[in-house]
Amino acid sequence: MLGATHKAVDYIPMAVKCGYSSHICSYTTSDIGAYLSNETPLSTHYGLATIPQPDLIVYNTNQCREVEDWFSFFAKQFNCPIVGIHPPRHLDYVGKAEIELVIKQFKEILPACEQSSGNKFDIDRFREAVKLSREATVLWQKVLQTAKASPAPITFFDGTIHMGPIVVLRGTQTAVDYYKILLQEMENHIFGNIGCLKDEEYRIFWDGMPIWGKLRMLSDLFLQNNAAVVASTYCNSWIFDDFDESNPFESTALAYTKIFINRSEKAKTEFFKQWMLDYNIDGVIFHDSKTCFNNSNAKFGLPQRLNEEFGLPTLVIEGDLCDTRFFSEGQSITKIETFLEQIEGQKAYT
Ligand code: SF4
Repeated sequence: MLGATHKAVDYIPMAVKCGYSSHICSYTTSDIGAYLSNETPLSTHYGLATIPQPDLIVYNTNQCREVEDWFSFFAKQFNCPIVGIHPPRHLDYVGKAEIELVIKQFKEILPACEQSSGNKFDIDRFREAVKLSREATVLWQKVLQTAKASPAPITFFDGTIHMGPIVVLRGTQTAVDYYKILLQEMENHIFGNIGCLKDEEYRIFWDGMPIWGKLRMLSDLFLQNNAAVVASTYCNSWIFDDFDESNPFESTALAYTKIFINRSEKAKTEFFKQWMLDYNIDGVIFHDSKTCFNNSNAKFGLPQRLNEEFGLPTLVIEGDLCDTRFFSEGQSITKIETFLEQIEGQKAYT
């Protein structure tokens, strides 16, 4: 919310004053800065007086260590217990040993959950939450996969908004109901041959973080150039199709450990290979985000590998998830339009 409403840059300096570098995660610095300013978008947009007092804070470093630092700040401020999962990272393959380790960590946090909630752990409620999570995540997966159609009925920019329920309402019937309606709508669009673009000339993959403060500008830019951004690592991050209520601990440990962001370069290349085929991609844009090293995949040669191994045109643009001071609109427009021309040239050649 802070990024999309252009408020992040107002708050980041407050966190910097407290010793957080402006080059670390701008979700973290803008959120901490807003708290230190005694403000929250939850008041502006949802009418809440303040951030609700947490009873327990739980994090998982499967995406980055920053979440631990970020949430530890709030645990200290609210004087509330905090526990975390620290799965093995950068794996080619997620095996039995890694899963057992994560299951052990999940089980170790149960006493803290029991203590702060006042409830005994109930395996049936856990199964129910996993079941609902699976239903929602599989529906979300199907929604995203409707963009395999050409013209695509949904783009990355729509996905950044529609992913809200799968991020914060996993495990609820509300999320399941939301994605049933959305999927039906997308399928109707495919049936009626209604795409986001009338003339879909290019199919683009977006890697890395959204640039929240520039969603409209970028969406319009691609639209004007007849380019549909049909898939992304970001929206795909909330597909956890390994969830299985008959095996809730193991399946949850697997689902949260094998995600793209937590994997090795080799595994990430394999993910890409599949996405390129599934979505019939013409080119990949890598967003090299200044404050998110963890979800910027242009740093260890992935664009070059995709180009060499699969002949895919790739482009790297610099920017940031929330701190728009790191994004040059003019330079990015030129780079993206030139990239699309390059794809056009390659298509004509082949
Ligand atoms: S993955 Fe990146 S953007 Fe997300 S919390 Fe971690 S550092 Fe921040």
